This record gives sequence, C-alpha cells and structure tokens, in this order.
Amino acid sequence: MSTDCLFCRIVERAVPATVVYETDTVLAFRDIDPQAPTHVLVIPKEHHPDAATMAAADPGLAGDLLAVVGEVAKADGVDDSGYRLVFNTGADANQTVFHVHCHVLGGRHLSWPPG
Ligand code: 5GP
Ligand code: ZN
Repeated sequence: MSTDCLFCRIVERAVPATVVYETDTVLAFRDIDPQAPTHVLVIPKEHHPDAATMAAADPGLAGDLLAVVGEVAKADGVDDSGYRLVFNTGADANQTVFHVHCHVLGGRHLSWPPG
C-alpha cells in the first residue's frame, strides 16, 4: 500500500467513496465527478500505476478487474445498452491518479472519437 496514493487510501477506507462492488482483489466506486449517468472506477486493491504494468505483473489481477467491470455494468443496468471502458495512461491521456483505474461510462450515448 502506498499511503500517498489517493486510491490506496480509498481501498483502506481512509478516504470515503461510494463503493458499488468489491471482491478480495478489486474495488469499484463511483467517480466523484461523473461524466455520464454511470461513471464507476474499477481498481485493483493492490497498487499498480497503470493497466499495462498491472497486466505484466499479475495477469490474473487484470482478469479479476475486467470480471468486476461486467458485474458493475449489470448492477447499473448498462450491460444491454452499452458502456465504454477507459484506462487513461500517462500525460497525453490526462491520467491524474497513478493507481490503475478503469472508467466504466454508460447510461447515455457516448460520442466517438473522444476529444
Ligand atoms: P484519470 O484522469 O486519472 O483517468 O481519472 C481520475 C478520476 O478520479 C477522475 O475522473 C476524478 O474525477 C476521480 N477522482 C479524483 N479524486 C477522487 C476522489 O476522491 N473520489 C472519487 N470517487 N473519485 C475521484
Ligand atoms: Zn495506490
């Protein structure tokens, strides 16, 4: 655990969040600044800075995370209507929290390409 990492602190429950789904290895909670009716962040409980680093270090954990994405989509009722998964990675993608998180966005039509 990294005490200066916001999302590690959410995992520790030192910072409050609206948790929507949890397993032994993965936590899902609502984004504080939602960009769509469904905007959930799905994170591994273990600290990894980005998706590729996580997948290289622990492919099973990457699979766990994607399985939770499916559960979140079902729970929010967007599994049939559709949703978008985003892993912002690095400066050009505006990653601001360096604990890997998958944005699950849905509940409205999402334009493509993104800006
Ligand atoms: P990034 O830009 O790194 O892909 O996304 C970070 C996301 O974390 C942003 O969408 C931002 O709104 C969200 N966020 C930042 N601080 C908090 C917080 O304290 N709680 C929650 N639930 N989300 C946060
Ligand atoms: Zn962290």
